[in-house]
Amino acid sequence: MAKGFLLVLSGPSGSGKGTVSQALMQSRDDIVFSISATTRNPRATEVDGENYFFYDKDVFMDMVEKGEFIEHAFVHTNYYGTPKKFVFDQIEKGEIVLLEIDVQGALQIKKNYKEAVFIFLLPPTMDELRNRIVKRGTETEEDIDTRFSNAFKELDFVGEYDFFVVNDKVDAAVADIEAIIHSEKLRVKRHNGIKELVTRKGGSKNE
Ligand code: 5GP
Repeated sequence: MAKGFLLVLSGPSGSGKGTVSQALMQSRDDIVFSISATTRNPRATEVDGENYFFYDKDVFMDMVEKGEFIEHAFVHTNYYGTPKKFVFDQIEKGEIVLLEIDVQGALQIKKNYKEAVFIFLLPPTMDELRNRIVKRGTETEEDIDTRFSNAFKELDFVGEYDFFVVNDKVDAAVADIEAIIHSEKLRVKRHNGIKELVTRKGGSKNE
């Protein structure tokens, strides 16, 4: 069985990580989404335990102290973290675990988990990025400014990632990510017993 792995997707607010992740999850059954914990308030359409686990700051900090996150960061104006147990249970089962996290979190993962795959999602232009955040209508004017100025800082970290994908059209971005997943699944280090694959049932004439 191929080993599971962490698939880290980052990109500035408005790059379309949520939309692309959802479309990707719908098109494949070998990916599970890691639901993050956050101290941010839920948006109108968000459901606790589906989009995020929404916690008070005290609860979140308690989890940090108990080592329950594989990474956590202060992003824009709130804390976000990836619960550890779920991720490792799924990898053990051979699943690809999708983490939609910011660059600070991705750097923590990069330090500790060598076999993770890092993808940076980009908007076609920064003007389009701002339009998308404004159109989404879920943030205050102040939050929009914070997210937009953070977007420029986040772009400086693209060099830390393995792949970049431009999200102009969602379908094309998903196809690019699927191509990355396809090659990652063929990596020799992700398999045990490749020789046995071809030598069983008299598969090889040289043995
Ligand atoms: P939003 O508030 O728009 O849902 O997310 C804000 C930012 O936090 C996004 O860049 C998102 O990828 C990031 N984020 C979401 N969950 C996590 C997490 O568990 N850890 C980290 N480090 N960032 C996260």
